[in-house]
Amino acid sequence: NADTAMYMAKENGRNTFFFYAAEMNSQSLEQLLLANDLRKALKQNEFYLKFQPQIDLRNGGMVGIEAMLRWNHSDLGEIQPNRFIPLAEETGLILSIGRWVLHQACKQAYFIQQKCGKKLRVAVNLSAKQFQDPKLVSAIRQTLQETGLPAESLELEITESILMENVEKAQHLLNKLKQMGVRLAIDDFGTGYSSLSYLREFPIDRIKVDKSFIQKVDTHPDDAAIAKAIIVMGHIIGMKVVAEGVEQKEELKFLQQNDCDEVQGFYFSPPLTAEELSQRILNQPEFCFFQP
Ligand code: C2E
Ligand code: MG
Ligand code: MG
Ligand code: MG
Repeated sequence: NADTAMYMAKENGRNTFFFYAAEMNSQSLEQLLLANDLRKALKQNEFYLKFQPQIDLRNGGMVGIEAMLRWNHSDLGEIQPNRFIPLAEETGLILSIGRWVLHQACKQAYFIQQKCGKKLRVAVNLSAKQFQDPKLVSAIRQTLQETGLPAESLELEITESILMENVEKAQHLLNKLKQMGVRLAIDDFGTGYSSLSYLREFPIDRIKVDKSFIQKVDTHPDDAAIAKAIIVMGHIIGMKVVAEGVEQKEELKFLQQNDCDEVQGFYFSPPLTAEELSQRILNQPEFCFFQP
């Protein structure tokens, strides 16, 4: 891109060069502005959480929810996590944002548990920087105390690459979290480099098969074979297997036939606010039970 810009600048003279230089920088300028807004977003209350149901395939019951961070920017409107989480990581802001997410997720999950009398588990996504934070364990302990959420109702989602960055450190940290009673899940499994036999070394409860495989199980035999293998091997090493990004009936059928434990995706429900979720649990009890 930069090469093309230089080439065109040479072809067309100086003014074009300035034009393309401005163009080239516009992305980093946008990032800079966005990072600046990100810094203020917490204080200005622009973040909120949505929760996506997770369903147990044995009985079709909702057993958990995953917290998804949302940013409602004052001028730009809704901004996708894929656009701002990396930025929050780079700037280090993820530490304070992550704390906020953890606290809100536990507080709202406790609210839903109380209001609906249903002991739902809540999953919270952790990024690499949070996982390296020496205060992570104490922050989680404190959050559980402050919100009243039972430790076993909290699940932390981390990716394989985070584990593989520093295996010994990760093992130590996961063991500490496990001792507290918190559950652990591997997110986006299949997209990184770790092997399942390697995961055996960690006290993991659940692996989440990445949605890129799930969305092709009905059309691409290779992806179907990979998904099948992950389910079988996950079970061999004593883990539950969750499929994320389930959108179609055929995908669900495949997962049922292959003994997947839990599912999550638009086929069942998009992420909902805590209010929407509790309303639906109370007003439509069948919402908690999916009849495939
Ligand atoms: P993820 O943890 O793998 O979350 C799943 C993403 O897939 C979510 O996107 C969810 O809305 C979306 N999704 C759910 N069902 C379906 C489906 O049936 N089809 C498709 N195509 N997509 C589905 P979202 O909310 O945009 O989040 C994207 C990523 O941002 C998450 O991926 C997670 O890595 C990150 N993220 C979100 N919230 C947080 C957070 O609080 N903290 C951190 N560190 N990362 C977060
Ligand atoms: Mg996740
Ligand atoms: Mg995922
Ligand atoms: Mg499909």
